[in-house]
Amino acid sequence: MSVKQGDWVAAAADQVIAEGKRRGGAPLVCASGISPSGPVHLGNLREIMVPHFVADELRRRGLECRHVLSWDDYDRLRKVPAGVPANFAEHIGRPLTAVPDPCGEHESWAEHFKAPLRTALAKLGVEVDEISQTQMYTSGAYREQIVHAMRHRQQIDGVLGRYRTKKVVAEDDVEQDEEDLAATSAGGYYPYRPYCEVCDRDSTMVTDFDDASTEIRYRCECGHEGGFALSGTDSGKLVWKVDWPMRWAFEGVTFEAGGVDHSSPGSSFTVGSQLVREVFDGLPPSYLGYSFVGISGMAKMSSSKGGVPTPIDILEVVEPPVLRWLYNRRQPRQSFQIALDGEILRLYDEWDALGRKVEAGTATDLESAVRARSVGPAAGSLPSTPHPLPFRTLASVADVAAGDPEQTLRILRDFTIEEPLASLEEARPRLDRAQAWVTTYVPAEDRTQVRTEPDRERLEQLAPAQREALKLLLDGLDEHWSLTGLTSLVYGVPKIQAGLPLDVAASPELKLAQRELFVLLYELLVGRDTGPRLPTLLLALGADRIRSLLTVA
Ligand SMILES: [Zn+2]
Ligand SMILES: [Zn+2]
Repeated sequence: MSVKQGDWVAAAADQVIAEGKRRGGAPLVCASGISPSGPVHLGNLREIMVPHFVADELRRRGLECRHVLSWDDYDRLRKVPAGVPANFAEHIGRPLTAVPDPCGEHESWAEHFKAPLRTALAKLGVEVDEISQTQMYTSGAYREQIVHAMRHRQQIDGVLGRYRTKKVVAEDDVEQDEEDLAATSAGGYYPYRPYCEVCDRDSTMVTDFDDASTEIRYRCECGHEGGFALSGTDSGKLVWKVDWPMRWAFEGVTFEAGGVDHSSPGSSFTVGSQLVREVFDGLPPSYLGYSFVGISGMAKMSSSKGGVPTPIDILEVVEPPVLRWLYNRRQPRQSFQIALDGEILRLYDEWDALGRKVEAGTATDLESAVRARSVGPAAGSLPSTPHPLPFRTLASVADVAAGDPEQTLRILRDFTIEEPLASLEEARPRLDRAQAWVTTYVPAEDRTQVRTEPDRERLEQLAPAQREALKLLLDGLDEHWSLTGLTSLVYGVPKIQAGLPLDVAASPELKLAQRELFVLLYELLVGRDTGPRLPTLLLALGADRIRSLLTVA
């Protein structure tokens, strides 16, 4: 085994290879399934990212691997999500591809919610083979499997029955169990639910099935009673717990991931694993459960921003490689949070530090592998920023310059004295993300408001020592006009005042004096007692503006 400790991607890839060998050299297929029933969230993205990294690892090893994305768009509309007019409730029970588009620009409800995820996947370098389950079911691709399942309904009922009494906690599984029970309640068990020919909804109940003719009879809540032969008409689907294993066999799936809840006893994965062997003559895939992905730092945001951010929203502020990194650096069973508050600065710092470590050759093999998987897929790296500055710096500059491109370029040049930026393009797209973060996620009360006029009253009341500190600072500006220069200047002023050499270590008294000076500077420059790091703020303001705000008349 070549697998390094803790490398879940490599370990999963090894298992998939073993699974392929067990099946006599079968093609390697990683599968994801997404229901485009509403906005696809960051937790759902893990459903795609976990198999993506496994497929990507197999490709890096020179193996062919297919990554299938099944759109569960033939599922019924269960509920109308927030942000969509309530009158869409009339479509509940219809297939997602038969519900109209809420915005009018897409072919259907399903396409409306697929589109943004497709865009996000392209930005993330995730390549998938899309399969529309509507297309598969309505084209009759599964006819044989449906008839087979109906003829083996008692056997299926028996397998499901072994688990029906067990307590199930997962919310998804509760819905599936309701579906399972509905399939049983008509006096017999039927693992298939037709969409009504009159109202197009699946509020139907199968009342009879003839094994020989494949003729099905059903009754719908709308009052319609009808029937058709399953061997010739395609207007319904297998219930979820049977549909999933049927598709494992149909696609030859060798790897799939699912929410950790799905792997508990009686869950769809355990039941499916039995059904695929006993009914569909196939094998369950190698499987990994994944945990929740949350968002933190939204508490301070105004509710006007709408719902929970989706992957495409996050990519406005998080670079694609960094988002890939979040999804592959931890074991899938570990949950994690994507931070949208000030923690995002630390995230970028950590990412940049990892890059420096890899470049310096001091990273572990695992760290190097994780970074390589993050910067892009096996096919090549994703676009990067030619001249990347720390996100923290860019955010401070965006905050102070308030989006003014000329001012931004001037400031950024001061930050890159050794190799000055030729244009803002060189700092993009990271700069755009920092600007988007400041305008979208930093609450107004935390934004820096540079004074437009000096605080004259305050300046006149300054103690002699304070006046002297400001003078020392202003006199040293030109000589120290760089990030490191200004850093030693602002920390050095209290040392000079105390008659100490500049390289002396700070005593508690000196630290207190430094803190007092910083507070004074913040108040005079931005009208609060805190703000961006002072050297950054000073560089961003420019010497003229600093002089106009700090000079005592
Ligand atoms: Zn739309
Ligand atoms: Zn009906």
